[in-house]
Amino acid sequence: MFSKILIANRGEIALRIIRACKQLGIQSVIAHSEADRDSLPVRLADESICIGPANATKSYLNQRAIVSAAVITGAEAIHPGYGFLAENADFADLIDKSGLVFIGPTAKNIQRMGDKVAAKKQMLAASVPCVPGSEGALPSESEQIIKIAHDVGYPVIIKAASGGGGRGMRVVEKEADLLTAISMTQTEAKANFGSAIVYLEKYLQAPRHIEVQVLSDTYGNAIYLGERDCSMQRRHQKIIEEAPALGITDEQRRQIGEACATACQQMQYRGAGTFEFLFENGKFFFIEMNTRIQVEHTISEMVTGVDIVQEQIRVAAGLELTYKQSDITITGHAFECRINAENPNTFLPNAGHIDYCHMPAGLGIRVDTHIESNYTVPPSYDSLIAKICVHEHTREAAIKKMQAALLEAQITGIDTNIGLHQRLFKDEVFCQGQVNIHYLTEWIKQNIEQ
Ligand code: ADP
Repeated sequence: MFSKILIANRGEIALRIIRACKQLGIQSVIAHSEADRDSLPVRLADESICIGPANATKSYLNQRAIVSAAVITGAEAIHPGYGFLAENADFADLIDKSGLVFIGPTAKNIQRMGDKVAAKKQMLAASVPCVPGSEGALPSESEQIIKIAHDVGYPVIIKAASGGGGRGMRVVEKEADLLTAISMTQTEAKANFGSAIVYLEKYLQAPRHIEVQVLSDTYGNAIYLGERDCSMQRRHQKIIEEAPALGITDEQRRQIGEACATACQQMQYRGAGTFEFLFENGKFFFIEMNTRIQVEHTISEMVTGVDIVQEQIRVAAGLELTYKQSDITITGHAFECRINAENPNTFLPNAGHIDYCHMPAGLGIRVDTHIESNYTVPPSYDSLIAKICVHEHTREAAIKKMQAALLEAQITGIDTNIGLHQRLFKDEVFCQGQVNIHYLTEWIKQNIEQ
């Protein structure tokens, strides 16, 4: 096992990793920006080292500064958290070449799955069902493209092979709009992601977003920890997640889980990962894989009792997974609410000074956060400031627990979306579990003046 790990991240996930280190008896070093000097993770880590100014390009995205910080402090491995450099194959490679360990998959894994066209090919090879669409990248011949779209059937969605974060996608309703939409997506993709390669998929009308959590070690063991429903999204950003997903039978869970585990074995995947699917009419369709720890890993931990971050670290250190598939059972129901510092009407990020902060607690309540009273949320980073999670025996009881937790949560001085969550946890359609990926957008249109 490692004796010291450097954490190349900030906020709640940095704190989450520090906690895993403490429980494993590993020293933690946090690499932080000037803006985060006084933050809770910096105070709670065993050591800290400043790697640059607030601007993330010069700190949390500065690969050489981070690797140098690890070398200087004597850390043997680097945990990237999520966001920033977590899915950057060059960073994983640089760490490898520096004689350190990247706590995550291999550079090759990241590269393969970061290219969505290559990822779909890999999944089809492992018999994981994908959204019907073009086989690989779109050709350049207009006639061929028109034929592909016609065969798939409208509406279709054009997606950038290297897109991410909900960007680089365009829905096309009819043939007349197809070629223009493709060239616009190509131009955007080139500008944002450095590659103009796009592909085409059937646009599913009312699917749910369901994803499967996996863990895989370097001895060929791969397990799945059940699924999460993340359909409550605004602009492709998840806001509420739950585990397990409603209406998935044990047999469906086993089938899709085994397909994902097999895919991990085939590509010699290392660590934690998530296979994302759209789910419609009882069928799963793979859309992409996230090769990192995810924000919503918490609820899978609550229903399985597995500490995913500790397993990630063990696997990176060359140890076997602690669990076999037969050790995993899904117990009860969990929800996560992402608390964002944002304007409740415009949804624009809203940094500033928190005068007072009180977070709920109690049996079956978990809050992952780095904020506290008298803390200033810097404007430079993501607006996620806390994750409130609950776990109960049934979905109904978990909803009640979340309602109570949200009423107890208090953050004064800045605007947050706690009020939005309070309203959503009273919404009948959501509470009955009858939502799809479009529901939240529609709900906001009808219920919030913008
Ligand atoms: P990103 O990497 O940007 O997150 P994804 O491929 O995961 O992109 O897609 C993000 C979201 O876009 C999905 O959760 C879903 O809401 C929507 N989406 C993607 N592909 C399709 C599709 N074929 N049909 C309908 N919606 C889609």
